[in-house]
Amino acid sequence: MQDADVLVIGSGIGGLTAGALLARYGRRVIVCESHAIPGGAAHSFVRQGFHFDSGPSFYAGLSDPKSLNPLRQVLAAIEEPVDAIAYDPLGHYHFPEGTVPIYGNADRYRQTIAQVTPTGAAEYESFEQELLQLYQGLCEIPTLALRADWQLVWVLLSRYAWPTLKLVPQLGNIQASVGEVMDRWVEDPWVRRLIDLECFLLSGLKADGTVAPEVAFMLGERSNSVIDYPIGGSGAIVQALVRGLEKWGGHLRLNAHVEQILVEQGKAIGVRLKQGEELRAPIVISNATIWDTYAQLLQPEDLLDGYRQAALETPTVDSFMHLHLGIRADGLQELTGHHVVVHDAQDITAPGNTCMISIPSVWDANLAPVGHHVVHAYTLEPYAGWQRNANYETRKRQKAEPLFRALEKVIPDLRQRITLELIGTPLTHAYYLRRYRGTYGPAIAAGTAMFPSCHTPIAGLYRVGDSTMPGIGVPAVAASGILCANTLVDPAETAALVAKSIANR
Ligand SMILES: Cc1cc2nc3c(=O)[nH]c(=O)nc-3n(C[C@H](O)[C@H](O)[C@H](O)COP(=O)(O)OP(=O)(O)OC[C@H]3O[C@@H](n4cnc5c(N)ncnc54)[C@H](O)[C@@H]3O)c2cc1C
Repeated sequence: MQDADVLVIGSGIGGLTAGALLARYGRRVIVCESHAIPGGAAHSFVRQGFHFDSGPSFYAGLSDPKSLNPLRQVLAAIEEPVDAIAYDPLGHYHFPEGTVPIYGNADRYRQTIAQVTPTGAAEYESFEQELLQLYQGLCEIPTLALRADWQLVWVLLSRYAWPTLKLVPQLGNIQASVGEVMDRWVEDPWVRRLIDLECFLLSGLKADGTVAPEVAFMLGERSNSVIDYPIGGSGAIVQALVRGLEKWGGHLRLNAHVEQILVEQGKAIGVRLKQGEELRAPIVISNATIWDTYAQLLQPEDLLDGYRQAALETPTVDSFMHLHLGIRADGLQELTGHHVVVHDAQDITAPGNTCMISIPSVWDANLAPVGHHVVHAYTLEPYAGWQRNANYETRKRQKAEPLFRALEKVIPDLRQRITLELIGTPLTHAYYLRRYRGTYGPAIAAGTAMFPSCHTPIAGLYRVGDSTMPGIGVPAVAASGILCANTLVDPAETAALVAKSIANR
């Protein structure tokens, strides 16, 4: 007896996109989430009337039917669009030498750069043009049409032959790092640091580690679509995916921690929950990270030693320090929603040096009680050395200090305004997100190794999420869910869904 056609472990954006799409394709899907709140890194939580994003707040194209954002394509396919508020500039970057507004609009972005360095702006334009050519090439093949098996070749040749041909001259850049493209065009040190920073914000790695298509996609979407924020916060996106999953017949089970993936004769046959219950299905998709899936959910004998060892040695990006604050909003009418503060001339990746700030109640006032703002600030912090011992509280305060100082650059009297303060450490991050060492994701630098895709050596076991394909972030993770779901259905089913989605735009 099978409980479902597909079991999904985890309701991150990767698990929910795969689950909702497979339900849309008519498969019986159960998503098991360890926590009481779905969404993984993208979940929202409420304290004292403040609606906090636990992670993402930079989004693009949610309110634009023509957007290439894979998440937007999934929401359209499951007929659960999300309302969003468009804004530009998308943020302010505060460097030690001064603050610059960052625009999605390419012309305005270049004008900002030109005010700092006119030669740098000209160099940047050439860099941008090269990446935008790649974006243009990718534009004509919707992510929703893609899959991760040999049938992709047939899909591309039969349905997207001309756009695929047009991509041939771009093959070099599809494989390249942003650093390689930058080296061809940009010498100006200020612009090189700006590009490094943008890459770091996206992938956790600087330009030489980030793959070119990821930044091409970001620049293209920023300029050709809209930067927008979902009304209701990132939780609104999660809720839309859950509604879609359930509307098409799937089920989400919360507080359902999967303890083990059941494998018989080299084939996944189901999962065992922490409470002992077993669920059976011929397909199991893990949205847990590569490290959690292979070290925690499978038995060592389920995988060949060499494969398991190599997978577990995948390098990690660090974890985070978080500050979630509720603050009084009086006198802050000019406040904008996104800020990145680089404290000093140290490397931008040094823990505490680059701090990301998001104040989403600027766009959606309902996220905070009347007269207040909701604030999320975070910075990278290594997991190693963190323990809940006698020093924990002191260390927590000390490591949160760069975040307070960053916020003071934006709101000088911040400390007097705080009405609610939550400090999160790498231990908090690992616990609430169920992620190995609280990592942001894999640190697989461009050109050093291949991402493993959704396939595993175990028949019937697939993986989705940020450790399956390049590009940590919601669009890439949604793409991983699409590729996995499509791989499990006939290409004709996908073609019908793509046609319907385009007609529904
Ligand atoms: C602080 C921060 C800020 C970010 N900002 C942005 C941004 O602005 N824009 C952007 O695009 N991206 C951003 N990202 C990245 C983006 O949020 C993530 O890449 C993405 O949400 C990861 O999704 P996922 O599906 O791979 O995994 P996850 O979100 O990690 O989801 C995995 C899920 O699986 C569950 N799970 C794990 N193990 C089990 C188990 N054994 N049983 C049951 N359930 C289990 C977990 O509880 C979790 O819900 C940010 C990330 C962070 C941390």
